[in-house]
Amino acid sequence: MLIAGNWKLNTDLGEAIALARAVAETIGETGVDVAVCPPFAALDAVFGVLRGSRVRVGAQDVSAEDEGAFTGDVSARMLRSVGCAYVLVGHSERRSARGDTDEVVARKLTRALGAGLTPVLCVGETLDQRRSGAEVVVVEAQLDAAFAGRSAEDARAIVVAYEPVWAIGTGETATSEQAQAMHAAIRAWLARRFDAGTARGISLLYGGSMNAANAASLLAQPDVDGGLIGGASLKPDAFAAIVRAAEAA
Ligand code: PEP
Repeated sequence: MLIAGNWKLNTDLGEAIALARAVAETIGETGVDVAVCPPFAALDAVFGVLRGSRVRVGAQDVSAEDEGAFTGDVSARMLRSVGCAYVLVGHSERRSARGDTDEVVARKLTRALGAGLTPVLCVGETLDQRRSGAEVVVVEAQLDAAFAGRSAEDARAIVVAYEPVWAIGTGETATSEQAQAMHAAIRAWLARRFDAGTARGISLLYGGSMNAANAASLLAQPDVDGGLIGGASLKPDAFAAIVRAAEAA
């Protein structure tokens, strides 16, 4: 189980430090893997606050380049150097609003893996795609592009987050049945592309308006191995409640 919080474009430095402290204190001891993904500007400070706690640090994005004349980019090596263990790759907000194509997402994954970060690869369909019954085809196409040319060993270093776009930040959650069905489809795709052992070894997170009230039933699904949490990760009590639900699942 991995519970990861995506703070998005929230928190200045002081707020991020305070939130990180509150998250670590509220969660306390746990057997679940926990991570928070603050904005770039707060990574170093948040890592300092969380050092020695159960909570690890991730970034929300990474450059598709290693180094050079790419103004504004942050490389995988830079993220490692400020203590990141995880990085989100291909979040739908970056795919739709920042032009991250499948090709860019694949290059970012390669950079993250090369630097020893655990990428959390986000995939998911829009509402129109689900209404037309194309959700599995869409997600499989995203997986095809992201895993093309990768070894099973590299695949095992990737976490996949299924995030239906229509459920992100909307308060509308996939039902437990919808989440389980897509997670089972992703697991089956991974087994076909690699092998059953590799498919079992890859964590599949659900993301999309997960909160303290719905976490238990989503996390109880056999192919749901954790959650990627946006809004609720900004509230330490709600985030801790999700971690408790993961412990019980
Ligand atoms: C996300 O941004 O990855 C997310 C799941 O957001 P929310 O929980 O707010 O829907």
